[in-house]
Amino acid sequence: MQNVVIIGAGLIGAGLAYRLAQAGARVTVLDAMAQPATQASGHSFGWINASYYLTPAHHHLRVAGIAAHHRLARDLGADVWEWQGCLWVEEAAALDQMAADLGHLGYELQDLTRPQIAARAPALAHPPPRALYLRQEGAVDPAALTRALLAKAESLGARVLMNSPVTGLIPRGESVCGVRLAAQEIAADQVIVAAGTGAAALLAGVGLHLPMLHRPGVILATQAVPQRLAPILAINGQEVRQDRNGHVWMPVAAHHQSDATETLPADPQASVDAALAALNALFHGPPILRAAHWAAAYRPVPGDSLPAIGPVAPGLWLAVLHSGITLGPLVADLLTAEVLGAPAAPDLSPFRPTRFWP
Ligand SMILES: Cc1cc2nc3c(=O)[nH]c(=O)nc-3n(C[C@H](O)[C@H](O)[C@H](O)COP(=O)(O)OP(=O)(O)OC[C@H]3O[C@@H](n4cnc5c(N)ncnc54)[C@H](O)[C@@H]3O)c2cc1C
Repeated sequence: MQNVVIIGAGLIGAGLAYRLAQAGARVTVLDAMAQPATQASGHSFGWINASYYLTPAHHHLRVAGIAAHHRLARDLGADVWEWQGCLWVEEAAALDQMAADLGHLGYELQDLTRPQIAARAPALAHPPPRALYLRQEGAVDPAALTRALLAKAESLGARVLMNSPVTGLIPRGESVCGVRLAAQEIAADQVIVAAGTGAAALLAGVGLHLPMLHRPGVILATQAVPQRLAPILAINGQEVRQDRNGHVWMPVAAHHQSDATETLPADPQASVDAALAALNALFHGPPILRAAHWAAAYRPVPGDSLPAIGPVAPGLWLAVLHSGITLGPLVADLLTAEVLGAPAAPDLSPFRPTRFWP
């Protein structure tokens, strides 16, 4: 039986814990914080999509990521997903280009007219003349999914140890054979670093430089209001969705998936207020939406913006990525198989971390 230590109890670590425990591994999850999903996974917009992508291989990985969510939903029995589709709005030339590119990649889309948009989103004050409707896309509550995965992993025998910061990886020659905590060492056949923005410091301890982009973001949720938006809306770079409890969510930084923001605004409250004003202006009626919650978080983005998933050294694996909500269940499926000895998954070959230290 493989003894696997996973560093990180965000969505990536939780998905791996569940799949590895299900496959019969002895799993220990370690996280520095008191609760799971307190970092990126607890502050995410939660959109599952393949309409944002950087390369064709990245798009195909995300399409596979959507399918992996459906597999996981059938298997897990948790009620945390909504498959409401996405309305993508941009100026005409950009929409034409997007429709051509996604069509070329074989992604299902519908080009909607203003009356069709108004029918799908009747609360919009100014339905645009055109939008692409991306039926396959949806959203998940990432913190709830993380907790459900860890609970399932624990029911299969995994140990989940919170308040357990890992201070270092234990090398043995060229390989890694365990992890070091403040007061103890834990031996492992395999160590998986799923530590989000904490990954670079852990790898630095074994002499590997993992370049990471500095990508802070702010996520905003309003009070619960009666339903006004069924589909996810990606409108001129601003994403909005309403969850089943009525809260309207939006990342405050525009174009957040490809966001190049390196610093938070000096006054995030002013940005939140501006975002709320823009949000209220989207809908008919008086501006009733107000901030019930907002929080800053850091996106785990490797230096070239693409996921970094796979073996690093004998006994050491890495899974660090943005769009980790979209890709989390797929990463869990593919990496579990590889960690337990299956041949390398071809879908992951463009995303191997070893590209950073050839
Ligand atoms: C504002 C925002 C919006 C986003 N929107 C989307 C979206 O719509 N769709 C999408 O697909 N993705 C989105 N993302 C990205 C997505 O949330 C992340 O890619 C994903 O949550 C990463 O999960 P993770 O488990 O790798 O990281 P995290 O959730 O950050 O978990 C890492 C864990 O590792 C722990 N850790 C770190 N170092 C150590 C250590 N030394 N010892 C022990 N524990 C350690 C941390 O405490 C943390 O719990 C968004 C992110 C943000 C911030």
